[in-house]
Amino acid sequence: MITENLKDVEARVCAACERSGRKREDVTLIAVSKTKPVEMLEEAYAYGCRYFGENKVQELDEKYDIMPKDIHWQMIGHLQRNKVKYIIDKAELIHSVDSIRLAETIDKEAAKKGIVVNVLLEVNMAKEDTKFGLMPEEVMDFIHEIVRFQHIKVQGLMTIAPFVENPEENRIHFANLRKLSVDIAKEKVDNVNMSILSMGMTNDFEVAIEEGATMVRIGTAIFGERNYAHQI
Ligand SMILES: *Cc1c(COP(=O)(O)O)cnc(C)c1O
Repeated sequence: MITENLKDVEARVCAACERSGRKREDVTLIAVSKTKPVEMLEEAYAYGCRYFGENKVQELDEKYDIMPKDIHWQMIGHLQRNKVKYIIDKAELIHSVDSIRLAETIDKEAAKKGIVVNVLLEVNMAKEDTKFGLMPEEVMDFIHEIVRFQHIKVQGLMTIAPFVENPEENRIHFANLRKLSVDIAKEKVDNVNMSILSMGMTNDFEVAIEEGATMVRIGTAIFGERNYAHQI
């Protein structure tokens, strides 16, 4: 079933790229495997997936140990500062930096390991009360503050768009995130790169690709609905 789902998702990603005159290789498909058992990840891996997204530190940690070592793990969930140390050298990219305190902790833990950690800044484009992330108007100041951390490299922006019936409703949020990244790139801040736009999920990834997503995070369309009642 997962193989079928992946073929279907892949076809839709390709079609969205074609519609918007983009190259397929400019969009990275992240298989969001949170709450799903390792057997399912193995099936996705066999199909060719090498980017997996998790939102819990412990789960990423456990799956990291079991799965092959050529996987590019993506930490996509809200990150508590006391847990940073467990994934600092396992996640290739942390998508969810939204406070200076968190950035400071990542910097400190990365310094201990002598590494530079790649991060995205999470932006709450629709300004939803229920979501984490920086307000769009705060991002520029945040960028100027975060440059002082030598062990962090900002690679771009991430957003989680609202849950909507019609994905077209989210087009404006994706377009605005892209504009924001272009504005930031123009500032040419040291240590700050704006090459990644992580946006688009099962419900709206095609619109996100049309608006410039370079990473889409897809769970349900690949692995099926999640059942949180049975989570470890
Ligand atoms: C769960 C999750 C996803 C995937 O959501 P689907 O709707 O199942 O595709 C993407 N991004 C983040 C941050 C998530 O937590």
